[in-house]
Formats: sequence, structure tokens, C-alpha cells
Amino acid sequence: MSAEFIFPLTEVKENGRLSVSAATEASAFPDALSEGALEGPVALEGVILAVDGEAAFTGAARGRWKFECTRCLEPLELAWSAPIEAMAPIDGGPMDLTDEVRQSIALAQPMKVLCAPDCKGLCAVCRTNRNKKNCGHPEGSADGGVSGGGSPRSRRPRLTPRPQKG
Ligand SMILES: [Zn+2]
Ligand SMILES: [Zn+2]
Repeated sequence: MSAEFIFPLTEVKENGRLSVSAATEASAFPDALSEGALEGPVALEGVILAVDGEAAFTGAARGRWKFECTRCLEPLELAWSAPIEAMAPIDGGPMDLTDEVRQSIALAQPMKVLCAPDCKGLCAVCRTNRNKKNCGHPEGSADGGVSGGGSPRSRRPRLTPRPQKG
């Protein structure tokens, strides 16, 4: 557990605000991403304000992460940032934003990462990266995707009469 994102609230109580600027290692958030990996430090910036007897943080976490392109599987390193808002009782001891940062990273994780909007992906036949080389296979030839819309008659129940023994 990292201590970098834990902030004492004494100054917030006295001055009504505390500017926050901190950074910690990506290893502090080993389980924030279900795919890909965080790279380098995770920075947290913002301000903690005293609001009605509570400490209210508004700011953002940012850093870099590595993913594979969803289509062509090329590794990509990208910058990310995630907004964070959190409240804590001002008399409840230091404000720990570590978990807020972890959650914001998880929420910011993209469902789909593309190296380029028009990434051509891998050839379905020979797995060649189509962005780098034209292998000559027609696009989508080995897709194997059977499109829907099969007629319901193809699943007609068999009504063969059963011979009765008598
Ligand atoms: Zn790609
Ligand atoms: Zn091919």
C-alpha cells in the first residue's frame, strides 16, 4: 500500500484548502487493470477543500499505460487521465485517495484500443499484420462468421409417427 496518496487534513481545517500534487509507482495498483499494464509513475493532482465539515477532493490522476491494439495486437503505450472526486469527514484522520485512484484507473480502462482508427488488423488466414504487409488474402475470407437470419423452418420438428406394437 502506498503512502503517497494519503493526505493529512489539518491544513484543510485551518486554511480551508490543500493543493495536492503527488506521484507513486504503478506497482501500487497491481489489480487496477484487467488487461494491459500501467507504465511509470501515477500522478495525482487536485485540491482538497473544506466543505460543510467534510473534505472534498477534486482533481485527476494521470499516467501512461500499455495495451495491445485490439485488432493487430501491436503493443501501444498511451497517456491516460481520469477525473477523481472524493469526500471524507474532515475530522476522520488523513484522507486516503489510493483506492479512489485505483477505481478511477479501472473505470478509465478502454474496452477497445486501436493503434490507428483505420487499423487493418491481422489477416484471418495467415495472421499477417495487414498494416505492415499485404499478404494477398482477400479480406474477411476466413471469417467463418455465419450470419444470422436462418429460417425457423430449418429446425422443423420431426413428426415421424412411432409404430405401435399391438
Ligand atoms: Zn492495430
Ligand atoms: Zn494472409
